[in-house]
Amino acid sequence: MVEVLALEFGALLVLHQMKHCGCYFLLIWCVGRWIYDGSVNATNRRQFLGLLGAAGFSAAVPSSAFGLYAAPVQESFTFLFYTDAHLQPELNGLVGTDMAFKKGRTIKADFAINGGDHVFDALGVPKQRALQLFDLYDKTEQDLGLKLYHTVGNHDVCGVYPASGMAEDDPLYGKKLFEQRFGKTYYSFDHKGYHFVVLDSVGITNDRSYEGRVDAEQLKWLAGDLAGVPAGTPIVVVAHIPLVTAYLAYMPEMPVPPPHHSLSVANANEVLALLDGHNVIGVLQGHTHVNETVTWKGVPYVTCGAVCGNWWHGTHLGTPEGFTVVTLAGGKMTTRYETYGFKSVAPQNT
Ligand SMILES: [Zn+2]
Repeated sequence: MVEVLALEFGALLVLHQMKHCGCYFLLIWCVGRWIYDGSVNATNRRQFLGLLGAAGFSAAVPSSAFGLYAAPVQESFTFLFYTDAHLQPELNGLVGTDMAFKKGRTIKADFAINGGDHVFDALGVPKQRALQLFDLYDKTEQDLGLKLYHTVGNHDVCGVYPASGMAEDDPLYGKKLFEQRFGKTYYSFDHKGYHFVVLDSVGITNDRSYEGRVDAEQLKWLAGDLAGVPAGTPIVVVAHIPLVTAYLAYMPEMPVPPPHHSLSVANANEVLALLDGHNVIGVLQGHTHVNETVTWKGVPYVTCGAVCGNWWHGTHLGTPEGFTVVTLAGGKMTTRYETYGFKSVAPQNT
């Protein structure tokens, strides 16, 4: 729904309500171009109109007189993508994660996204250990000094392996610990004319393990979210377990195949079908601890190296410990990898 709210002092204020969530976006048309867009803080239209009234604006043009709703204007910016920190006190993993955040602090960025596997590990350890690791992570993250968005990784899921000793009805079981600490496991947000979609690619299986999967409820949400994005808006997608990767092509052969489809998203084709037709400029992924870009139908699926490298044992298939600096400019995504000077105390480089 588009409403034109006010035409004052040569400026046009347009309020656009997102179909799927009911949130409002504000656009201002001034001196011949769109100069601002963003979510409106007022939680409903009445409040917003009150704010406009207080500012001296009035509703002047009926919505039917205005049929144009263009993709918002983009501004260039940089953000940081940290993934697979696998924070642990052992092997200097806590020190390393802290070093990575402190290095990030020296780079001019608007915010950061953690691509998942914040800790090592919550899947198969007693609850107390998982809580201790999440506490350490929370504390360490403060050293980045930036707004940080979180993506759920398989190692962030609490107590799912029976070896953890956790009961399935525990209030922190599965993704509940993550939700308690960081909020929803999938969501979207907008920044400077770009739309971000953070997916939950971790499927918990009936035998208390995991696979790469985006469940049916989330697919429905994703379809609705994308439907509310103005046509042409550049979109960046984030998923911990890769949607598209060539990792299987070059990783060492596994002596025993894993019990589940866990290196990539088993139903990625369903996600890709929903993304098709939208202006997806890049997909950021983690999980495999390598730097790799696979372009499929013009979309770069960028898997990023891990903060922990080879699980704090040096390089993994040639990728050292580090994080990714992502720049969005002119509707395009570019990335560069930054190492941060960590030296493994027990190197086993691959
Ligand atoms: Zn992972």
